[in-house]
Amino acid sequence: AKKKGKNRYAWFEASMETDLQYRSELERGIRDGITNGEFVPFYEQQIDISSGDLIGFEMLARWRSPELGLVRPDIFIPVAEDMGVIAELSESLMAQAFRDARDWAPHLTLSVNISQVQLRDPLFAQRILKLLVQHNFPASRLDLEITESCLETDPQQVRSIIASLRNQGIRISLDDFGTGYSSLSQLRTLPVDRLKIDRSFIASLRDENADKTIVNAIFSLGNGLKMPITAEGIETAEVLQNLRDMGQFSGQGYHYGQPEDAASVTAMLASKGLL
Ligand code: C2E
Ligand code: CA
Ligand code: CA
Ligand code: CA
Repeated sequence: AKKKGKNRYAWFEASMETDLQYRSELERGIRDGITNGEFVPFYEQQIDISSGDLIGFEMLARWRSPELGLVRPDIFIPVAEDMGVIAELSESLMAQAFRDARDWAPHLTLSVNISQVQLRDPLFAQRILKLLVQHNFPASRLDLEITESCLETDPQQVRSIIASLRNQGIRISLDDFGTGYSSLSQLRTLPVDRLKIDRSFIASLRDENADKTIVNAIFSLGNGLKMPITAEGIETAEVLQNLRDMGQFSGQGYHYGQPEDAASVTAMLASKGLL
């Protein structure tokens, strides 16, 4: 059954946009998956580059599907958004992540990706605060990653949601920075705490290529605006070295490790005395 599942998955990826029957099967799978608790948080290490210290983890959603195996979020997040179940799914993942992360050493932060669909709910900030209280996780350890595209529908509302989250001590990061449509004008009016440079610029960083110029420009922008920077998708020591020349930042990527489930993270933290 497992092998068949894998083949169907590959085929599904290739025809995702067109095959309606597969789409409805996927929707049913997602609905059942939410009911059956098949969606789980994985965690990717975030490192302070100057000290080499672990500073926290980014939660990345995974679907342990009985039919498809371990499914990555690019497949199910957009479908969950269309189905109107993204808030439910995200909040169930956050509940699990808050319970996991409250056992980690208290200086370790938790970053969570937020869909622009969730930010259309005027009560979003209240929902987050309620979840934090329910699961006894401090706001000061939570970092929410949003993208510029969240401003497309109701920028005024999103700004006010962000303001109330930050008032409670939650930090906001601008994710996938550099890939958005009008980055610079948005940045002027969007009160965020951190810029995350998208991995499409980082992965191919070499001495003299165009990405290096772009990444350098993002570093100056961050310095000028006094916003700390995170580089995602650091895969090699060479890329890390190139980034070091540009200034201070935190980083994540396969160079430091693959995203792992809660049990592996707990074992890793225990071995480092960070529980
Ligand atoms: P993202 O926020 O840009 O997350 C980084 C993605 O790059 C993750 O993919 C991560 O596994 C992958 N990655 C990390 N380091 C490296 C590296 O060195 N090289 C390469 N090639 N890739 C690396 P993943 O886990 O498949 O997640 C894809 C996207 O799905 C995320 O992109 C994020 O936008 C979204 N996502 C994940 N979890 C959630 C969630 O709970 N809610 C929402 N709304 N979106 C989520
Ligand atoms: Ca992210
Ligand atoms: Ca990204
Ligand atoms: Ca993203």
